[in-house]
Amino acid sequence: MTTIHDADWWEAEKSPTIRCVLCPRRCLIKPGETGFCGVRFNGDGRLLTIAYGYPVAINIDPIEKKPLARFMGGTRTFSFGTFGCNLNCSFCQNDSLSRGHYQLRQLPQYVTPGQIVEQAQQHKCSSVSYTYNEPTVFAEYVRDTAKVAAAAGLKNVMVSNGYISLEAAQEIYPLMDAANIDMKGFSEDFYRKICGASLKDVLNSIEYFYQLGKHLELTNLVIPGYNDDAALIDAWLDWVEEHLDKNVPLHFSAYHPAHKMAAPPTPVKTVLKIRDRALERGFQYVFTGNI
Ligand code: SF4
Repeated sequence: MTTIHDADWWEAEKSPTIRCVLCPRRCLIKPGETGFCGVRFNGDGRLLTIAYGYPVAINIDPIEKKPLARFMGGTRTFSFGTFGCNLNCSFCQNDSLSRGHYQLRQLPQYVTPGQIVEQAQQHKCSSVSYTYNEPTVFAEYVRDTAKVAAAAGLKNVMVSNGYISLEAAQEIYPLMDAANIDMKGFSEDFYRKICGASLKDVLNSIEYFYQLGKHLELTNLVIPGYNDDAALIDAWLDWVEEHLDKNVPLHFSAYHPAHKMAAPPTPVKTVLKIRDRALERGFQYVFTGNI
């Protein structure tokens, strides 16, 4: 039997057209159509989510793989994701999921929040991670699973692009114990042209998560010629220093050509230079990835 859940975070707008307000994109969705992320659709004037209950990637990962370098080190995390994403990064390193689509007639196995938590416990995981694609687009599934997981004594971890509306963040973020949030390039121009989004919304989310006192780590995928300019990196470090603090772990990862981007892979020396610059400026926990 196919189970399709009602979505939250939407408003009626000139019924039967509706507006999803889960993320800053605020898609206006006509009956029978889906929003930009491809997993939330207008079913006769109600917003429905096809991602709820249908994970398409499940793995037991070391927590360090999220990456979280300073949270529950040495533990396993039950990791899952669905199809869909609310950004459109031309360098996407995981486009089989982010741009993947569900077939209504051939949905994967339905997995309840309770079953996710049972499996996590069976595999001796200490946490559940909402990851692989953007968890914001399956926020209702995240919320319900996180509540069951917390009741069972498991921690909740979000690996996110931070592109979420404040009203949704106010419900989802307090349920998390830790997050790794991407900052993809410290300029509005980069976000607009390369990701089809806005940096300001992402920074607001990062700051909000930090203010909640949760464990936060930040990742910047370094793409040569696009977001690796020394002044841009310094501006990012300035922002972290000013709005967060120098103890927030920072990850700088090397990009590899993927999806629509043809730039060459990031030279190892570029990533190491950025790491050294952050350390030189007094950031305490600076890590490199994909090198
Ligand atoms: S979550 Fe999806 S449908 Fe909702 S506003 Fe964002 S991209 Fe659009």
